[in-house]
Amino acid sequence: MSVTSVYLDHNATTPLHPEVKTLMKEVMDEYGNPSSMHQYGRQARQLIEEARSQVAALINATPDEIVFMGSGSEANNTVLSMLTCPLRGCSTPVLGKPRLLTSVIEHPCILETAKCIAGQSADVEYVRVDSRGLIDMDDFRKKLTRDTLLVSIMMANNEIGSVQDIQTIAEMTKKQGTIFHTDAVQAVGKIPVDVTTLPVDFLSMSAHKIYGPKGVGALYIRKGAPFCPLIHGGHQEQGRRAGTENTLGIVGMGKAAEMRLREMDDEAVRLRDLKKYLMSALTSAIEDIHFISDPGRDIPGTLSLSFPGIEGEAILLYLDLEGIMVSTGSACASGSLDPSYVILSTGQSLECAHGSIRISMGRTTSKEEIDYTVGAFARTVERLRKMTTYTRGVRS
Ligand SMILES: *Cc1c(COP(=O)(O)O)cnc(C)c1O
Repeated sequence: MSVTSVYLDHNATTPLHPEVKTLMKEVMDEYGNPSSMHQYGRQARQLIEEARSQVAALINATPDEIVFMGSGSEANNTVLSMLTCPLRGCSTPVLGKPRLLTSVIEHPCILETAKCIAGQSADVEYVRVDSRGLIDMDDFRKKLTRDTLLVSIMMANNEIGSVQDIQTIAEMTKKQGTIFHTDAVQAVGKIPVDVTTLPVDFLSMSAHKIYGPKGVGALYIRKGAPFCPLIHGGHQEQGRRAGTENTLGIVGMGKAAEMRLREMDDEAVRLRDLKKYLMSALTSAIEDIHFISDPGRDIPGTLSLSFPGIEGEAILLYLDLEGIMVSTGSACASGSLDPSYVILSTGQSLECAHGSIRISMGRTTSKEEIDYTVGAFARTVERLRKMTTYTRGVRS
């Protein structure tokens, strides 16, 4: 088999599931406005409501608890921005004096929103994580006070794949009478999530991380939870998110959710095995690798690792020449060479953060692709270490 391209960046985005693609093609001409009362409108409405049921089923919610949005980022922004609701003159001041507790390893769409809110005189506190990227529970206990109005902790980290004990964190939060939100964009569709047993008030999802289309996400809002929309306007989504619905995208998200429910359990087993295989093959082929992920407490297909002595960006570019697509730390969005803040917050050295690579496998990743990738990694790392006159443990 000759490998021409190997996509190992599924945490950045995923290709459309073939069934999603088929369905989206079929409904492409359904242009009715779902709010219209006539035939075309009703047809579009029906498609959206079916998708809502499919997304609800993936997390065991009821359909009216699902609100479609333009992205996972929008879902996250919507929840955090509720803290400024009274300041925006909203008719339903829901949360009083804003005080937010979040973590240092959240996705930028949480951290940047938190920064923005802090600028509007809200208090924001950040919980630390340990060396495995897991919430430091002592720190959490200390920072969760009666004044905390909202806690937002991600379920699974996009960079290192660490999965938090959201059950315990949410229970502690609710005991304090505080509203709880989780960014579950990297968790839903990869590991089981059930909102009937998990006491979350809000939960964010995104279609393009689960083989659905880009530009569509959803927010789970528990029945009875206080809510204030971010986008004001028409009565779409029961007044919770204005703007004419993205019918095609929503249909795609619904189908993607349905396929996840069918495929994710077997896939998780397969990807965990493949990851074990990848780790042991890399370990035999290359000296001095540092694995950042913690098997057992991570999402199935994600492996974060670093190669002391070389820059992650250099590895990425050389692998790209061989058709292999991976990613480095958090630098992706900015295009900057800043070290990964996620890896730095696990207490790793600056060098480790600079040399980090994220491999994220998906539903079509094969053993052959992994074999080819290991070979390319070995060649690349050897070449780059020669260039930097690397000697084990020392960088000159
Ligand atoms: C991708 C991602 C988001 C953002 O979702 P978009 O739909 O791309 O806006 C939020 N949180 C996490 C953890 C993500 O991985």
